[in-house]
Amino acid sequence: DPVVVLADVRKEYDLGGTVTALDGIDLTLPAGSYTAIVGPSGSGKSTLLNLIGALDTPTSGTVTVNGTDVGGLSERGRARLRGTEIGFVFQTFNLMPRLTAVENVELPLVFAEWDRRERAERARTLLERVGLGDRLDHLPQELSGGQRQRVAIARALAADPALLLADEPTGNVDTDTGEEIMSLFADAHDRGNTILLVTHERRIAEHADRIVHVRDGVRERTEHLGGDD
Ligand code: ADP
Ligand code: ADP
Repeated sequence: DPVVVLADVRKEYDLGGTVTALDGIDLTLPAGSYTAIVGPSGSGKSTLLNLIGALDTPTSGTVTVNGTDVGGLSERGRARLRGTEIGFVFQTFNLMPRLTAVENVELPLVFAEWDRRERAERARTLLERVGLGDRLDHLPQELSGGQRQRVAIARALAADPALLLADEPTGNVDTDTGEEIMSLFADAHDRGNTILLVTHERRIAEHADRIVHVRDGVRERTEHLGGDD
């Protein structure tokens, strides 16, 4: 079954007047697929990601993540879905500043009530996988931007979520570091993770198997770039 299904999704914001951020979006993310959403600023990319990430609910239409209708969940139910099924990577890393790399990666496993020793082992394995085996006990401020984003990716993958969401993950690093970050997403994709990436950079989007263009809250066109979906 697909990991994500959006059917005729609309999202309106009311700020005095009504802003239509998404205007009838259909989108399916098959298991194991790697999709990039691209579009100009204000086209609805963040709104789309917030809905798929169960941070918000649609005005109408349905958002289904791993078979669960996000619109039918309480705030608490959505928090649970985020914690178990969804890994997030943000432009600004969003690490906990007072926790070490290994402690940051362990966080989702603390919420998932993993045993202390298994947690530490899983976090170490993931940090080794992203090339930070020698930085386990460093604080975020002791790491470069690219290293921080590696920690964030390890954290996003820690609880083995059904879906990995990334919002401009290379937006705060230089070009070479961005390519290194993208190779970690490629590695996650090779391991079977389902990935949705939002970016305004063409070069970054080309790492995905499919590029979905949005503009003014609607889907414009879709490019297929090889891969297997
Ligand atoms: P993008 O991520 O492509 O830049 P957004 O999803 O952030 O686009 O925004 C789409 C439209 O919705 C814009 O007109 C934006 O101003 C509006 N919008 C987004 N989030 C909110 C919000 N929380 N409240 C009001 N308007 C919003
Ligand atoms: P991006 O370049 O990542 O799309 P945006 O500036 O469009 O960044 O949006 C960043 C965040 O602010 C998003 O979570 C979006 O929902 C929110 N946002 C965007 N526009 C508005 C707005 N007009 N009012 C309130 N929140 C907004």
